[in-house]
Amino acid sequence: MAAVTEKGNISIHTENIFPIIKKFLYSDHEIFLRELVSNAVDATQKLKKLSSIGEFSGELGDLTIEVKFDKKEKTITVSDKGIGMTADEIKKYINQIAFSGATEFVEKFKDKGDAKDIIGRFGLGFYSAFMVADKVEIISRSFKADETEAARWECDGSTEFELTEAIKQDRGTDVILHINNDSEEFLDEFRLKGILEKYCKFLPVEVKFGTKEESVEDGVDKDGKPQYKTVTKDRIINNPSPLWTKSPKELKDEDYLNFYKELYPFSEDPLFWIHLNVDYPFNLTGILYFPKVKNDFEIQKNKIQLYSRQVFITDEVKDVVPDFLMMLHGILDSPDIPLNVSRSYLQSDANVKKISQHITKKVADKLSELFKKDRKDFEKKWDDINIFVKYGIISDEKFYDRAKEFSLLKNVDGQYFTFDEYREKVKVNQTDKNDQVIYLYSSNPGKQDSFIQAAKNKGYDVLNLDGVLDSHYINSLEQKLEKTQIKRVDSETADKLIEKDQKSESVLSQEEQDQVKGLFEKAINNKNMTLAVEAMSPDELPVVITMSEFMRRMKDMAKLGGGGYSFMGSMPDNYNVAINGNHAIVQKILKAENEDQKITLAKQAYDLALLSQNMLTGADLTNFIKRSVTLTAQ
Ligand code: ADP
Repeated sequence: MAAVTEKGNISIHTENIFPIIKKFLYSDHEIFLRELVSNAVDATQKLKKLSSIGEFSGELGDLTIEVKFDKKEKTITVSDKGIGMTADEIKKYINQIAFSGATEFVEKFKDKGDAKDIIGRFGLGFYSAFMVADKVEIISRSFKADETEAARWECDGSTEFELTEAIKQDRGTDVILHINNDSEEFLDEFRLKGILEKYCKFLPVEVKFGTKEESVEDGVDKDGKPQYKTVTKDRIINNPSPLWTKSPKELKDEDYLNFYKELYPFSEDPLFWIHLNVDYPFNLTGILYFPKVKNDFEIQKNKIQLYSRQVFITDEVKDVVPDFLMMLHGILDSPDIPLNVSRSYLQSDANVKKISQHITKKVADKLSELFKKDRKDFEKKWDDINIFVKYGIISDEKFYDRAKEFSLLKNVDGQYFTFDEYREKVKVNQTDKNDQVIYLYSSNPGKQDSFIQAAKNKGYDVLNLDGVLDSHYINSLEQKLEKTQIKRVDSETADKLIEKDQKSESVLSQEEQDQVKGLFEKAINNKNMTLAVEAMSPDELPVVITMSEFMRRMKDMAKLGGGGYSFMGSMPDNYNVAINGNHAIVQKILKAENEDQKITLAKQAYDLALLSQNMLTGADLTNFIKRSVTLTAQ
């Protein structure tokens, strides 16, 4: 072994930064491998660059990076055939740059509570090796032809280092980590392979880790059947030219679908995708896929992976991607997203804002293109994509400006309309006396069928807004669309849903109305039900139970914990009970022989109304059935 040529002290201010860094990075020790392999990739890319501009005239040869481990020796080695470093360069780059980067990190974040926030985003570069190793060696030989000697550097993470001459046949750098006792978990094939696959899967230079067995064709037997033999091949961890780095022109739908399968092996095919490719004013590439989400969008979040020059950084893309697009899947790759800063800084970063706006614009462009190209097909996709569009409309004014052209409203008969088309359709019949156009909707067509039918009998159209976001969406739409009110179809009796000037006539005298009301009050005996006798059309139900739109929205807001409405949450549900004074059953009640019979009939009519809304349960339901049997048998 060569004699020690230099011992020295690394000049940094903090005496021993290692324990502090170790503490900060505790949960994310595994990123040491990402950092070291990324450095190896950088060194290789630099050499390629020098070669392409004629500053390196030697053979590039095989540039594969290799990761090895030795369980007995307790070492992990990352080797590259990149530019390498001379002894002077090691002093400059490792002693100064790498250590000063680490010092800066500690000084910046040691007192900050948000250190956890940046972990995993912040590469400490070379220094991160000391999270898992108590000694690190570098053996490096520079690409420069006159450097025949190699250099060996060694350090235990303190401020002292040792630099010697060494012998190394090949150009490039070996970084050897002597793994500490706490980190022996990393001396494991599956663990290392897992980490490499997570962070290095798409690095631009091939990374070899161990070998794999593969079956290959080996001639044919005498019957012409192909023969196979098993061969051992290098196991290459990564795909160095992933789809997003290619030009969209070269790619077919199949390529995008295959790449999606590679990313999310067990998912259904996506609906469509957007290939991002921007150079200016920021650099951004990537592919965003629209998955089939249906309603369970929470579990779909965090599927977008963020890369920086093909190095995996994180799958938390909050702030980079607008919130309403967090349900998309795919890859974003940008060297312009600052990864070494805390989240609050990220939010105010100008590039991040521009990137987020660009993504929104691209998504709107794509949706608009799909809508214009094939309306029928767009309608078919609507059930899957409406959640993105609605979320976008609620949360992003700019997106709404684009989306109002292609956003669809679906009615309970499964027909689709743009905003303009729908207004045209309902304007004549559904404008009330205050010149407001009333849009009716159902939040549950199955349950609210009797109301839907009653509204249809009046010639009204009913929208189907039964999605998880729809109560927000309705509030937001009502504010955006002029002179428009949106009412749930069961918020009033059909007659009152859209108030016009003419009033229907009651067949009952005032005295009869009071009598009917009194009877029903006795029959129902529930103070949360507000009764009124109304002159409805004779073919509507005898009793209709509604909750006013206002009341229901207050309740909805209380449920969501909306400011100021929480007191509503503890209040019982209040309903309006409209007794159809023009219905034949009311005449029957009035004419019944005695009070008992009158009340029985009133109860029956009321229970039927409850039943039609799934509100009749328990003993009330049992009593209703008994009563029905008796009445039918009479
Ligand atoms: P960064 O990579 O962010 O610059 P690092 O601490 O990872 O910071 O590395 C410091 C410097 O050491 C690098 O900029 C590079 O010049 C040099 N270096 C690190 N690893 C290698 C390597 N494998 N081959 C050549 N140079 C390297």
